[in-house]
Amino acid sequence: MRTPLIAGNWKMNGSHALVDEFGRAFADAALPDSLDVVVLPPFPYLDAARRALADVPVQLGAQTLNPSHAGARTGEVSGRMLKEFDVDYVLVGHSERRALYRETDDDVYDRLLAALNADIQPILCVGETLEERDAGHTFDVVLRQVGHALAPLEPEQRARVTIAYEPVWAIGTGRTATSEQAQDVMAAIREYQAGFDPDLAQAMRLLYGGSMSAANAAELLAQPDIDGGLVGGASLKVDDFLAICHSAR
Ligand code: 13P
Repeated sequence: MRTPLIAGNWKMNGSHALVDEFGRAFADAALPDSLDVVVLPPFPYLDAARRALADVPVQLGAQTLNPSHAGARTGEVSGRMLKEFDVDYVLVGHSERRALYRETDDDVYDRLLAALNADIQPILCVGETLEERDAGHTFDVVLRQVGHALAPLEPEQRARVTIAYEPVWAIGTGRTATSEQAQDVMAAIREYQAGFDPDLAQAMRLLYGGSMSAANAAELLAQPDIDGGLVGGASLKVDDFLAICHSAR
């Protein structure tokens, strides 16, 4: 049985006030027992979030990392540094990083490996653009992204990866994939994994991301291969985010 995971990716949003609001709201929230919750604020708020959420069952995540440990990489942050802030999860391959910062499949693999080496659980983000979907390439694109990142890994490393399927056309658009569209792709990801190791494929958590909201979360999360959500916009409103957490039972 896979424990559901709800992760809130704040992207380049948030403030000290929002961190404090989350700390207060989660202190009062009775979350389901069998649920993992992760908040991923921008780097400058990690330490404040760590302190605000210290006494509640919420883990901390970061949104990216540099593949190197240290050195002349102005503006970058390494896995080793994130680990010093008790970061448990880190996103790699988010479509905004792929599109805006030109991260290639090779770059994504390097970051994935850096996260594993720093003992931080990577959430590998994959997803097709609208053009790719309309051209009938959804499964090719998604399985290429998954395969490029996972195929070279050792089984023990693969077991520590969570995958988030985020169709690019559903991110920030209010246009959610239907639960069937998401389920079809996520079943294919699990089947691909089963080619390496059927037990691992059953244990691996798969998250859906793309305009997940308090209104649509329950239906998405009811799908057999959707084990959680990677939430953007709705993770910035604590009531909405808590409602999504409560949908994951
Ligand atoms: P939205 O929920 O705002 O569509 O963002 C999804 C996302 O990109 C999470 O990483």
